[in-house]
Amino acid sequence: MENCIFCKIIAGEIPSTTIYEDESVKAFLDISQTTPGHTLVVPKKHVADIFEYDTNLAATVFQRIPKIARAIKNSNTSIKGMNIVNNNGAIAYQSVFHSHFHLIPRYSEKDDFK
Ligand code: 5GP
Ligand code: ZN
Repeated sequence: MENCIFCKIIAGEIPSTTIYEDESVKAFLDISQTTPGHTLVVPKKHVADIFEYDTNLAATVFQRIPKIARAIKNSNTSIKGMNIVNNNGAIAYQSVFHSHFHLIPRYSEKDDFK
């Protein structure tokens, strides 16, 4: 998809810090870290939002999320939990219209994030 920033990241045209990658999914650090380790999980196929997933793509992406979440958690013993967030549509605060799941590690009750 032309002019999609995440398609360009997937194609390697824009640099990113890769956390996980296979033939159909990529996970990379969010450029704006809500907490350290904040990661975005995206399907390599361009779909704008959750409403465009078919069953196979949903299975592919959702199947990988626990493994990626566990790898992030295991990378830092200070991580106590994790928020997984998926915004769909501008009204729901989606700003990049290539579907993605935020994996946001939580370190303490004092994390400045709700
Ligand atoms: P949304 O608001 O759509 O749920 O989340 C989009 C996320 O993409 C934001 O957290 C934003 O920081 C991140 N983001 C936007 N542009 C880039 C970029 O060029 N590289 C990376 N790694 N993250 C980006
Ligand atoms: Zn895209």
